Amino acid sequence: MIWTAFDMEKKKRYSDYNTYLRQLYGQRVQKISVDAGLSCPNRDGSISRKGCIYCNSKGSGSGMFAKGISIKDQIANGKIGMIKKYKAKKFLAYFQSYTNTYTSCDHMKQMYDEALFCEGMVGMAIGTRPDCIDAQKLDLIASYTKDYLVWLEYGLQSVHDATLAIINRGHTFKDFSHAVRLTQGRGINICTHIILGLPGEDKNMMRETAKRLADSGIHGVKIHLLYVIKGTFLDKMWKNGEYIPMEQTEYVDMVCDVLELLPKEIIIQRITGDPHLDELRAPLWAGRYRETFNYIQHTLENRDSFQGKRYKK
Ligand code: SF4
Repeated sequence: MIWTAFDMEKKKRYSDYNTYLRQLYGQRVQKISVDAGLSCPNRDGSISRKGCIYCNSKGSGSGMFAKGISIKDQIANGKIGMIKKYKAKKFLAYFQSYTNTYTSCDHMKQMYDEALFCEGMVGMAIGTRPDCIDAQKLDLIASYTKDYLVWLEYGLQSVHDATLAIINRGHTFKDFSHAVRLTQGRGINICTHIILGLPGEDKNMMRETAKRLADSGIHGVKIHLLYVIKGTFLDKMWKNGEYIPMEQTEYVDMVCDVLELLPKEIIIQRITGDPHLDELRAPLWAGRYRETFNYIQHTLENRDSFQGKRYKK
């Protein structure tokens, strides 16, 4: 069953992920990012070698696995900081780097088992592409739902195929819809990543993404800002004046619009990104995560608004 934090925590004005986890487990649950050393078909040549325009070869992966640090050790290291900072006792493994279903089922099982068998693990989140999943892989992932909380995170970014082509995603919205249909009914929670400020998109197109996701059968959303990372194709576009990032006010207003259009049952796992400052090129305000986060809260309050305010079934 999908629980919503919204009714309990109205002052937050949207169903935030931390509250959702706290309600499920009665305490703080901390995500630990894991790099399983996989690749991505949009980088290894299966689809393309260029990758998405905003991704650099390092940007999507921490490189931990390549440095010889096993999944188990990454979790052990991650826990040290979380215990010290938050006194956390329960954890989720977040398979974040690259495409975490882009391998055999045997290897996937080995990766997930290694993470989940660590002490204090209550579940996992698996980041992947909608074109890197099939029934066999979903059966494997679903087999963990009996004992663990399982989220499958599909990178979509936009419902507009023209935009997906511009950013070189290498898949379509239809691929995403197919993946969601295939995932539904297995006890797996589905999260979708979207990006605001993609090249060629106006405000109505961004709102359209929220509207179409609202009834798509997903359970969670991560909202990101498109920021420019050094060494990416987007970096070239930005230097050539072909890409202008959103202003902070524009972004904050659009996040509020998106929240208003999504039903309150959808768990909002992120409302902006948190780039590494040494990699960030523009906009520089993207590096001030807390400021943007607070700005969104205040804007919702000033609008007297909340998640789902403009949602229509
Ligand atoms: S799908 Fe992910 S890892 Fe692959 S190129 Fe795009 S952003 Fe990078």
